[in-house]
Amino acid sequence: MNETALTVHQTARPQGFPTAEDFAFVESSLPTTAVGGALVRNLYWSVDPYHREMMDDVPGGFALHAPLEGRTIGQVVASRTPGLAEGEIVFHRQGWRTHSVVTPEEIRRLPRFEGVPLTAYLSVLGGTGLTAYVGLTRIAQLREGDDMFVSAAAGGVGTATGRFARLLGAGRLVGSAGSTAKADHLTRQVGYDAAFDYHDGPVGDLLRTAAPDGIDVFVDNVGGEQLAAAVGALREFGRIVRVGTISQYNTPDAPPPRFDYADLVEKSLRMEGFLVRNYRDVQEELYEFAVPHLQSGRLALDETIVDGFEGIVDAFLGMLRGLNTGKIIVRDTTETDSPTTVAPQRRSTTKVYRHRQPAD
Ligand code: NAP
Repeated sequence: MNETALTVHQTARPQGFPTAEDFAFVESSLPTTAVGGALVRNLYWSVDPYHREMMDDVPGGFALHAPLEGRTIGQVVASRTPGLAEGEIVFHRQGWRTHSVVTPEEIRRLPRFEGVPLTAYLSVLGGTGLTAYVGLTRIAQLREGDDMFVSAAAGGVGTATGRFARLLGAGRLVGSAGSTAKADHLTRQVGYDAAFDYHDGPVGDLLRTAAPDGIDVFVDNVGGEQLAAAVGALREFGRIVRVGTISQYNTPDAPPPRFDYADLVEKSLRMEGFLVRNYRDVQEELYEFAVPHLQSGRLALDETIVDGFEGIVDAFLGMLRGLNTGKIIVRDTTETDSPTTVAPQRRSTTKVYRHRQPAD
């Protein structure tokens, strides 16, 4: 077999925004499979904001000159364990490499729902969708008619939050994003009632215009000025769902947001953060909620698909700069008859771009 394996290593700790020079593609022969394991050819990779946090010298962060972890879907191509059959599709966390050796304990089998493509298990049915669902149902405890504001609304968690909130009966939905085109996309395609580009002025003013009567729930993917603006806009008994702080990942020295702490008391606000890994028990409930909507077409997939493993670093860097709409996923393109071929599905934003070409 002439096939070789490619693995991405982090080679330097970035100061501020990472660059392609902080990574290296390392070529090797295919990994050997010991008894009890199986060789998986990877088909889809998730690149995520938390990878940026792991690039720093922090406990549990990426080791330099070693393969990087991440959510991955692949197919078993050779097995030395009865627990994994050749041809099986598996989910694992080995991440940024074309091939992985896994044991049955290291993988999760994905339920296959008719008409639902594999990418959905990394987007709306995966960690991204679970984050949105937990944020709305467990942390915000969304009630019918609640008016909401969502930051980074055009990203993976943000689009899933908007679509789930609509299905769960939310009231007015306002989102923020990094460009006018993304803001337009939110109102035209994703179901937001109003959206703005957060570069267009003080966010407090932009939010007041978009939500003149205030909000009940803020789902915060960003932190910083947007969090401060939302505290001002929240009504009595409002809830702030702290999902992420991406505005600080590349600028750790940025001053923390200033807001009126008295607002938290005067308006009886609740602010709660969470990590999706502590809510794995909600996964089945997410399937029960989302799959029928996917199958009926009421729920569309918001995904940016990047073609070719060689594009994984560019995809990650592009996501940090906001080149994606919806969940960004890298797709293997080395075979055309692979199970990546998917049934027709309502996708609102899928853009397929070759690696190293700028996304529009
Ligand atoms: P994503 O939103 O699909 O992609 C990141 C987006 O962040 C970019 O598209 C960009 O969109 C926006 N962004 C980048 N820099 C920004 C800045 N300085 N200010 C405002 N927006 C900025 O990523 P995701 O996977 O869905 O994650 C969204 C957030 O949720 C992240 O903070 C992530 O860490 C967090 N998260 C948390 C959990 C959890 O367990 N708590 C799980 C998953 C994700 P624009 O073009 O709009 O700027």
